[in-house]
Amino acid sequence: MSLHAVRPKILGFISEDVSAWLVALLVLLVGGVLTGLLAWSTLNLFHHQLRQRFQLLASERYSRIEERFQDQEQRLDGLRRFFANSDSVSRAEFDGYTKPLLYRTQAYSYAERVSRDQRAAFEQRARDEGLSSFALRELDAAGQLKLAGERDEYVVVLYSQTQSKLGSPLGYDLLAQPLRRATLERANQHGGMAVSQPMTLVSIEPAYARGVLLVAPVMQRNSQEAQATKPYGYVMAVISMRQLLADGLPEANRDSLSVRILDLSTNDQHEVLFESPNPPAVSDLSATRLLRLADHDYQVDIQPSEAFVQANHSSVSSLVVLGGLLSILLSALLYVLVSQRQRALKMVELRTQELREREQELRGTHGQLRGVLNAATQVAIIATDLRGVISTFNAGAEQMLGYTSAEVVGHMTLENLHLPRELVARAAELSTRYGKPVPTCQAMLVEGDLESDHEAREWTLVRSDGSHLMVNMLATPVLDEQGLWVGHLAVCIDITERKRVHEALAARDLLLKKLSAHVPGGIYQFKMEFDGRFSVIYASDGIREIYELEPDVLLMNAESIFTRIHPQDTTRVRASIKASADNLSPWREEYRVQLPLRGLRWVRGEATPEELPGGGVLWHGYISDISDMKRVEEELRALSVTDSLTGIHNRRYFQERLTSEMARVERGGGDLSVIMLDIDHFKRINDLHGHAVGDRVLRIVCERIGHRLRRTDVFCRLGGEEFMVLCPDISGEHAHVLAQQLWQGLRSTPIDGVGTVTASFGIASWRVGEGADALLLRADSGVYAAKQAGRDRVEGEMT
Ligand code: GH3
Ligand code: MG
Ligand code: MG
Repeated sequence: MSLHAVRPKILGFISEDVSAWLVALLVLLVGGVLTGLLAWSTLNLFHHQLRQRFQLLASERYSRIEERFQDQEQRLDGLRRFFANSDSVSRAEFDGYTKPLLYRTQAYSYAERVSRDQRAAFEQRARDEGLSSFALRELDAAGQLKLAGERDEYVVVLYSQTQSKLGSPLGYDLLAQPLRRATLERANQHGGMAVSQPMTLVSIEPAYARGVLLVAPVMQRNSQEAQATKPYGYVMAVISMRQLLADGLPEANRDSLSVRILDLSTNDQHEVLFESPNPPAVSDLSATRLLRLADHDYQVDIQPSEAFVQANHSSVSSLVVLGGLLSILLSALLYVLVSQRQRALKMVELRTQELREREQELRGTHGQLRGVLNAATQVAIIATDLRGVISTFNAGAEQMLGYTSAEVVGHMTLENLHLPRELVARAAELSTRYGKPVPTCQAMLVEGDLESDHEAREWTLVRSDGSHLMVNMLATPVLDEQGLWVGHLAVCIDITERKRVHEALAARDLLLKKLSAHVPGGIYQFKMEFDGRFSVIYASDGIREIYELEPDVLLMNAESIFTRIHPQDTTRVRASIKASADNLSPWREEYRVQLPLRGLRWVRGEATPEELPGGGVLWHGYISDISDMKRVEEELRALSVTDSLTGIHNRRYFQERLTSEMARVERGGGDLSVIMLDIDHFKRINDLHGHAVGDRVLRIVCERIGHRLRRTDVFCRLGGEEFMVLCPDISGEHAHVLAQQLWQGLRSTPIDGVGTVTASFGIASWRVGEGADALLLRADSGVYAAKQAGRDRVEGEMT
């Protein structure tokens, strides 16, 4: 069954073969299209709502303006009726009526019609009412009020109630100004309210000065008359457009609407009567409506302001961003999902392939392992399961134990192959050690020593024919891949032969030990490495006595031997070892050792060198203590150079010393003298007193002479009654002085029973180039000369 057949599709519909990039791109495209559609419909809805909202706001604003227009008309009409229904209205009454009306109106005024003839009386009446400087006035070219000129008719402001701080333009003639006049005339014509064209209002603060006049004529109460005659006065509302429209609205920057009012009364150009301080925003929304105030139509244009646009901004851009992000996210997610899945599937395929290869390899390895197991014929390899039943029994095991694999595998346990009494003993030992019973079937598997794991142990196995086999067996647990214990592996090596060799070696060792223990001195193996380092390979117990060093100290540090050798002999010993190594000649050396317990001893070492392959030399040697022999030698030597009668040195010793002293002076110069003496008429002493007395005289003479000599002088008996004193480092004169002393010392005191004994002295001191014989001859000649000269004297040095 192929793997593809069982794989579900990604998210239930995406085939796993499709490229992850393609999926991501498609999702991105679909996401983009959906976002676009959504944005489009949202934008449409938004525009629709915006239009509705704007229209709502605009119509609210229209009705508010219309209301204010109507309000102005109603209030002025009220004032008109107040005048029309009264016979006369005093200034106080006017003020009382109009004061509460001053709301969104700059001023209310009452102007009365005055004819030329009435002017003076009218002015007078006004002054009488308290307006002291009252006069009819008009605006001059500069816009200043001045006294009005002479005209047939005036319409003069008589009462005025104003918000302006500039006061009221009382006395101002409305007819003097064309715009006002035209307005009054229109009011007269249709007998109702008229509104002026936009104008600059008089006595109104500049900020509010642009506005209109709303004028209503006041007729006589008698209506019949009123139809016929002109009105007797006018009531006016002075309206600042700004105040009328802007009051009570939100601040400019917070007002959603931008309002503009156009005056349509002028035909050619429509004057802008009012314009909101906030400019209109760029928008296709706008509303236009005509509103009527008195006899005038005003065009009111309303457009949304920036505040409106800000308060109603579209959420489409956020929607697009959000939709775009979502699409990207979704496509990225799908890309990751699809590509991950594809990668995972690839990995699965790869792993499956690897597993197949591994399986193949394992089969091969298993075959190899079996081959190896069977090839190891010198080793018995036995594997068991957890119950101990044998599952593998290799060719080596077959050979060693005499069973075939078929007989053993699945039928026998490892325990069956062991010698039962050994297992029982081991099980008992382990049980006591661990404090719990250890069954015999596990005795060969349990570690004896917790610290050293997997230690091989000797066991006796029983062959198929019942004979015993000594093996070294290493038993280790077999773990599976999860680390679970699945059995044991026992590897056995036949150690019968090894044991035999081992025992033979041990016997040889014992023999060597015994032999060396009974031989005086010690035997050793001494090695010099190629770099000159010494080591002791073997040292028998006898060596301990020779050097008073423990053999193991020697094995550790061969140089310790040289700490025992007498300092005067170490150089010689080292040199002879080196010579033996260089020439591979037998080493033989006698030297002194200075021992802590036994003091100074003489030893003799002899060794045969053997060149080692690495460049070193190995000596096999023997060292013995020769102190006793040395002592005998010394004694013999002393005897050989001593004169037995007198105890002083003999002629042989004299000759030896003379030779060495001659060598010294010939080598390095210096002094060397000899004094020779011969007892005078000794024959007579013998003859007179006997030979024994002669011997005594010889001894006494020797004592007396020896007494006067230095330690360094060598006193010898040459033979008979002839003596010689060898004086190193003494010149001829000094030797003469010494000879004189000796001569005097001898002759000054008589010898008991014999009397005075004298001798004749001859002297010779060494001269450069002179030989020993010539030197002695000269001394001898000295003695001869002394004899000739009558004996008992010292003869000076012969030339
Ligand atoms: P001169 O003054 O000329 O040397 O006369 P002299 O008698 O000493 O000389 P001469 O050589 O003729 O005699 C030496 C004697 O010394 C001869 C010998 O018997 C004696 N003599 C040699 N050796 C010994 C000895 O060991 N003991 C004794 N008692 N006498 C000895
Ligand atoms: Mg003599
Ligand atoms: Mg003599």
